[in-house]
Amino acid sequence: MSRYLKERYQALEAYTPGEQPRDMEYVKLNTNESPFPPAPQVLAAMTEDQVALLRLYSDPTGKALKDKLAGLYGLQNENIFISNGSDDILNFAFMAFSTDSGVVFPDITYGFYPVFADLHGVKYETIGLKDDFSVETTAYCSINKMIVLANPNAPTGIGIPVDQIEKILQTNPDNVVVIDEAYVDFGGESCYPLIRKYDNLLVVRTFSKSRCMAGARLGYALGPKELIADLEKIKYSTNPYNVNRLTMLLGEVTVDNDAYYQQRCRQIMEIRQWTAEQLKSIGFCVLPSQTNFLFASNPEISGRELYEKLKARGVLVRYFSKPRISDFVRITIGTYEQMQKLINATKDITGGSHETK
Ligand code: PMP
Repeated sequence: MSRYLKERYQALEAYTPGEQPRDMEYVKLNTNESPFPPAPQVLAAMTEDQVALLRLYSDPTGKALKDKLAGLYGLQNENIFISNGSDDILNFAFMAFSTDSGVVFPDITYGFYPVFADLHGVKYETIGLKDDFSVETTAYCSINKMIVLANPNAPTGIGIPVDQIEKILQTNPDNVVVIDEAYVDFGGESCYPLIRKYDNLLVVRTFSKSRCMAGARLGYALGPKELIADLEKIKYSTNPYNVNRLTMLLGEVTVDNDAYYQQRCRQIMEIRQWTAEQLKSIGFCVLPSQTNFLFASNPEISGRELYEKLKARGVLVRYFSKPRISDFVRITIGTYEQMQKLINATKDITGGSHETK
């Protein structure tokens, strides 16, 4: 740290992204990317002419992409905000909507939320997940603070029923409720239709998971037009061209080829089921997942030890040091071939015990 860093940032603990190692080729199941490439039409859109157009700035309004997304969801262009990945949008939402009374989210959820709160000097409170690791939704009713919920939650993979989200919206009319739907396309239930009914709902989405494009950095939010205008104000006060031309174009082609991505999501869900059964058959407890990952634990081995031993065998997963989840690893769903490698390596480490919990 230099002596020039502002005092308010000196104690800030930055988010630690998942490893992106370059030392060897791993079976990479640690950052919830898709194992599948973008649709062939997306690859075909990357023409020389389009690359040559990089000399020009991108459209700061993102009109063409917003129009496509509006068509997909039956919304208006003014209900859509586009930005450089959904992390960017979450950051803007914390900047724009966190109240003096603070922000609330679960104790076990996406690790970036407390970092955004600290970055913007906002107090936050956490509410414990239930014993079964689902979100205690009643505890968020009439709370009078900005609420952030990942639905489905990460790293647990468990979804929140939309009627419970609606109760939270109804009972918190004076603060914004952010629903982070990064993983919703893998069997979760989206609450975006509620933006017509509640002026305090912001739904945050990404092209990184179900749209197979984590490296392009593209996210969007769906919300009532006033909330979207607020986010635009923050974006235009930071970096209006924060989505590059190529990414914007690839996003448009992605929306045009929605059927391809639906099919890929179904495939991931099938492979998820197979992997969960395999893990259970060798003694793992596996939480029910509505995402492209599984959260699994084995009483014989800590999350960290399993992570290390899998890494030594060329398979990368993610572990967490928080006490309640230190026995778990989070495993991204890859191809059948990748999951077979994971299962073989896991059997090798745990002795392939066939006891079920
Ligand atoms: N929300 C959740 C719950 C996530 O797990 C992630 C991915 N790490 C994000 C948002 C951010 O995704 P991106 O910035 O790639 O859109």
